[in-house]
Amino acid sequence: MTNNLVVYNTLSRKKEPFEPLNPPFVGMYVCGPTVYSDVHLGNCRTFVSFDLIYRYLTHLKYKVRYVRNITDAGHLEGDRDEGDDKFSKKARLEQIEPMEIVQRYTIGFHDVMRVFNTLPPNIEPTATGHIAEQIEMVKEILANDFAYEVNGTVYFDVEKYSKEHNYTILTNRNIDELIANSRDLGGQDEKKGRLDFALWIKAKPEHIMRWPSPWGWGFPGWHIECSAMSSKYLGDSFDIHGGGMDLAATHHTNEIAQSKACNHKEPAKYWLHTNMLTVNGTRMSKSAGNGFLPHELFTGNHPLLTRGFSPMTVRFFMLQAHYRSTLDFSNEALEASDKGFKRLMNACALLPKLKVSDKSDFDIQQIAQRCYDAMNDDFNSPVAIAELFEAARIINSVHDGKGGITQSDLDALNSLVNDFIYGVLGLKAETAQTDEIGPLIDFVINLRLQARASKDYATSDRIRNGLLELGIQLKDNKEGTSWSKL
Ligand SMILES: [Zn+2]
Repeated sequence: MTNNLVVYNTLSRKKEPFEPLNPPFVGMYVCGPTVYSDVHLGNCRTFVSFDLIYRYLTHLKYKVRYVRNITDAGHLEGDRDEGDDKFSKKARLEQIEPMEIVQRYTIGFHDVMRVFNTLPPNIEPTATGHIAEQIEMVKEILANDFAYEVNGTVYFDVEKYSKEHNYTILTNRNIDELIANSRDLGGQDEKKGRLDFALWIKAKPEHIMRWPSPWGWGFPGWHIECSAMSSKYLGDSFDIHGGGMDLAATHHTNEIAQSKACNHKEPAKYWLHTNMLTVNGTRMSKSAGNGFLPHELFTGNHPLLTRGFSPMTVRFFMLQAHYRSTLDFSNEALEASDKGFKRLMNACALLPKLKVSDKSDFDIQQIAQRCYDAMNDDFNSPVAIAELFEAARIINSVHDGKGGITQSDLDALNSLVNDFIYGVLGLKAETAQTDEIGPLIDFVINLRLQARASKDYATSDRIRNGLLELGIQLKDNKEGTSWSKL
């Protein structure tokens, strides 16, 4: 299979021709969410970006195996193996089982992914479902002498590894500076080196999520799950590893070290990273108060939003920026995307009504070629969208009798819309919404029920009032919550 696709590889810091290890097969692993809270928009952007990549590779007739994990154990609050397990802490606060936390937020995550029209991955493995594989990998790394055990916890020996391999290969940082800048835990640390990280962590007596291992009862470190699950489902070497760019410096750096120390191979050929979200020019974060959740964006219930925006408008907005650029949320930008999305969809709706002529005044093949050129240039969706606006202009012109189009060009236009707007970009019309609004409102009702179950009545009221402003009235009764349009 030949094509001209080039991708930006974080590993080489340049664009490279995309040449899969075993064409037409492509193995792609993307780090999924840690399901201890609602998925935030930054994560949604990452998964929408990889959905675009997955859709385009599939469109190019690659047989893609897309693996995206669910982290449901082992993720500590601090990236340096300190603090509590995120699931246990939340479960303790709410006095429920950690797996109830996992279940609640996994369902919530899937709901949001569906609303954004992302295709499900082919395999969605969980950390808790692969404890045995992770233990085997830790045993192998110990046997290869790249790890050591202290009192029931196993650490990866970064210094030892660095003597034979380039530990910072992904981000090209200077390892001596990295050591100098990392925190010294004042002699309290049982690690040999400051950069060493835990592969397996001894469980404290009160820790609920624990498994037996050769080193006693414990749980896996966060990084080992992705090394174990990617090699299990995609092989020791595979094509694409993706995730948010905030994962490159620690999580992905440690993944590469683990996989090499275990399998003696470079795990992924291409490392792809998505950029972050900003709000009015400032980095989006919970602590800054500018980090809104998907449902807040859909309902407009956030002090920074003037109104709600539909999931397809938000998806379109995300795709209007290249995945490696920062994406800035502002009401003005969202309004512009809303207008643009509607313009595109209105033109698509006119397609079946177009009348053909004997000759064409437009070159559809050239637009299609430009769409391929854009997507082949590291999945440049904003450039492809600009070309699709040109297609929309042609549709409107023909419809208004300002130009003619032949049957074969009309067929080409139909293919262009189906392949790129509905297929690769994954957009869909939202105008005839009676069928689609139901699941969306059920989803929002579910979020409200979750808020009430957590005694977060402020959020619960915000959701009810926000829906009311949109003309949707909720009614709580014995059977649950029903809704009606005002
Ligand atoms: Zn990962």
